[in-house]
Amino acid sequence: MAIGFLRPTKRVIDCPAIYKNIKSEFKHIKDGAEIFAVVKANGYGHGAVKVAEVARQAGATGFCVSLLDEAVELRKSGITEPIIVLGVVDPIFTNILVEYDISCAAVSMEWLEMAAASLEAGHGERLKIHVKIDSGMGRLGLRTADEMKEVVAFLEKHKEFEIEGLFTHFAKADSKDTSYVDLQKERFEEALTIFPDDIRYIHTANSATALWHDHWRSNLIRLGASMYGINPSGSELASPYELKQAMSVVTEVVQMKLVPAGESLSYGATYQTTEDEWIATLPIGYADGLLRSFQGFKLLLDGKRVPIVGRICMDQCMIRLDKPVPIGTIVTIFGEDEESHEMISFQEGAEYIGTINYELPCILSERVPLVYKNEGSLDKYEAN
Ligand SMILES: *Cc1c(COP(=O)(O)O)cnc(C)c1O
Repeated sequence: MAIGFLRPTKRVIDCPAIYKNIKSEFKHIKDGAEIFAVVKANGYGHGAVKVAEVARQAGATGFCVSLLDEAVELRKSGITEPIIVLGVVDPIFTNILVEYDISCAAVSMEWLEMAAASLEAGHGERLKIHVKIDSGMGRLGLRTADEMKEVVAFLEKHKEFEIEGLFTHFAKADSKDTSYVDLQKERFEEALTIFPDDIRYIHTANSATALWHDHWRSNLIRLGASMYGINPSGSELASPYELKQAMSVVTEVVQMKLVPAGESLSYGATYQTTEDEWIATLPIGYADGLLRSFQGFKLLLDGKRVPIVGRICMDQCMIRLDKPVPIGTIVTIFGEDEESHEMISFQEGAEYIGTINYELPCILSERVPLVYKNEGSLDKYEAN
């Protein structure tokens, strides 16, 4: 895929923000738990390899991804720390897991049996697994005590598996209402009584659990959203420490024109000028991840909010200004405007189109290049 290096639209990643968000979490931890940085989906759109390098400098001792391909990408880029694939790896690929020393989720008895068969066909290697308990997410893992006992008995016989972890995932740790977390805790407590007590990693904490539940029972935290400066609760709960949004999406004005009153703009001619209006064209559209539903959303130009007018096209959109600006004037779509320090959070964008803040950085297309700011001497920065 062609990346738009020769076009002024880009994702700017503030490396110190990621570094400080992780440092802040370390300061928040009281019992020496480890942090594994979650860099699935290309690091939530921030670039998996770069984020992993920054996270490592901030003290992360391992990484989590969703796909086996993502794990292999990290290994090929020189990451040597533990990597866990949280999604289901097709058991026919146990050879790749072993070859690259990648750990993966073991989600069911069926998966273990298939993986055992696949390992048997190999050369007596051992596979590192993290057994997943479905305590109420309903997505992956073992649900009943009987299933868990069956797995424990199976793993006692099958020494080709090394149980490196036992884990679960909370569905509602980002809410004021803790009753569902409490139910899941109760179920995971039961799982803990069934499995051996010498398992290296017990992990239950995503960002929300780390922020608002003291990473309950975890000696490893799977830190995703908050590392990128995204509040997992949206606006429901305040973070105990400042989360700094690491990504900005910026572009530049490529054409400036005065459109007379009564003219229409963009596809469908849905917007009519009511007076002579200064209209600027921006080289970003829905193929870049600026969804059509952002029509009307206000962007930042010279510290002021300016609305997107007319439909958003595949590659371009238009904004209305009070006065003309030079070609090349910077426009911030998300993130901080460097001059004025005004800020558009992903949360604000998410509320505008009726989604969650996680989704917006993830849907930016590969076409929008990633640029990293201040990646050198990160150790001079402190926690927020
Ligand atoms: C994505 C994911 C995480 C990270 O969640 P955040 O809310 O981004 O911190 C942790 N655990 C699992 C199983 C995940 O899929």
